[in-house]
Amino acid sequence: MKAVRIHEFGGPEVLKYEDAPDPVLRKDQVLVRVRACSLNHLDLWARAGLKGITFPHILGSDVAGEVVGTGEYVTDLKLGTRVLLSPMYFCNHCEQCMAGHQNFCPQFAVLGNTVDGGNCELIAVTREKVIPIPDSLNFVDAASVPLVFLTAWHMLLGRGHLRAGQTVLVLGAGSGVGSAAIQISKMLGAEVITTAGDERKLAKARELGADHTIDHYKQKIADEVRRITNKRGVDIVFEHVGIATWPDSVRSLKPGGTLITCGATTGYEAQLDLRVLFAKQLSLLGSYMGEMGELHEVLKHVFSGKLKPVVDRTFPLSETRAAHEYLAKSEMFGKVVLTV
Ligand SMILES: [Zn+2]
Repeated sequence: MKAVRIHEFGGPEVLKYEDAPDPVLRKDQVLVRVRACSLNHLDLWARAGLKGITFPHILGSDVAGEVVGTGEYVTDLKLGTRVLLSPMYFCNHCEQCMAGHQNFCPQFAVLGNTVDGGNCELIAVTREKVIPIPDSLNFVDAASVPLVFLTAWHMLLGRGHLRAGQTVLVLGAGSGVGSAAIQISKMLGAEVITTAGDERKLAKARELGADHTIDHYKQKIADEVRRITNKRGVDIVFEHVGIATWPDSVRSLKPGGTLITCGATTGYEAQLDLRVLFAKQLSLLGSYMGEMGELHEVLKHVFSGKLKPVVDRTFPLSETRAAHEYLAKSEMFGKVVLTV
């Protein structure tokens, strides 16, 4: 098969479009012909250097495609079924997996990080990671969904227990997780304040349902949040940016508010005044991926059309390098997707 592989860590130039061996299908696995695979910031981190990767390695966490083979033990999937894949790899037999907490499994990995992913034509995965999609969803849209919608759902509900009537500050409306978080928060009846770096992105954020927008290059986020909330602050801050926004994120919380973070694209050594933490009785929560039950739950809303995939643009698999370079510039609104 054709695949994009890395044989060393480095910049976009280490991505090689080349021939690779077809995966060997085990009796408990499903073979999927990949049709689309979306990019995430995780791809850039993994390409630059991630513990646990062995070379050659195939990146790519978000896969949609067609079933082209099933092992002997898989009896409920027809060839040709259109599917997306769970972006998570887990053992499916440990205590955490059995309790539904797959993201606490000792063997947990994001697909394409320490296990080979979907930047290729064929991938073999176990049955529970294969989820059929409706005819109304094309492969590009389907591939843009799993990781970011799961991450946003777990942050806002699993971790943040978001309720109708609360106010959420979603940082980075143009990112995949940001555009998912705006939609999920609105669907659940929250008021949404969001940020982006130019008017085009702010307009798109309002189209997705954001009630208030802040241009983070022209306006001070925390000051604007104070003004919008009548000095109250927000119930939840949805963080994934890191040190560039951290001080404003903490300042934007109301007393008793909750900050949830799933990433740090601008750097991770943030500072915190502990007096603010205890005096305002804040909660600072980490979040990583989510649970399979949550993935099925959020996908129901995508399949029914309530939550919409947001795709910025596509690149063919052979131009994965250009796609990585484009993602790194953060000019997109929504997801960048490879077609295979
Ligand atoms: Zn497990």
